[in-house]
Amino acid sequence: MHCPFCNAIDTKVIDSRLVGEGNQVRRRRECVTCEERFTTFESAELLMPRLIKQNGSREPFNEDKLRFGFLKALEKRPVSTELVENSINHIKHELRATGEREVPSKLVGEKVMNELKKLDEVAYVRFASVYRSFKDLNEFRQEIDRISQEGEASGSDTGGN
Ligand SMILES: [Zn+2]
Repeated sequence: MHCPFCNAIDTKVIDSRLVGEGNQVRRRRECVTCEERFTTFESAELLMPRLIKQNGSREPFNEDKLRFGFLKALEKRPVSTELVENSINHIKHELRATGEREVPSKLVGEKVMNELKKLDEVAYVRFASVYRSFKDLNEFRQEIDRISQEGEASGSDTGGN
């Protein structure tokens, strides 16, 4: 990186060590031109990507909103809070793992559907019917048929897609 004192392009690392339980690297650098020393800290960026909405606007990832979506779909269903939290953590992990700074909000919706499918079929259908806003009853019925076929074919396993 450029020297913060004289803006020279070339600086060299004279010391490098792990700090903060090993999740950060502290580097001591020296400017090749003016010989000033300075320190940089480097850590993995674990920010949640921002969500790109259908209309193109961006909004920050909101865990509460995600949780609310789960709880609404799972209302009065026999699914433990712990399993819901696992699903939320799983989705957060996957979103971070994309390494993207922005992802379509649609992607989150798809992930919620995948998780709900594993947790509870009724909740899945509830969520999917709102989320996909099925155009008519036929489309809705096809989706339910598809789920029950999948269920018969692969048990309660993760399934194919
Ligand atoms: Zn310098």
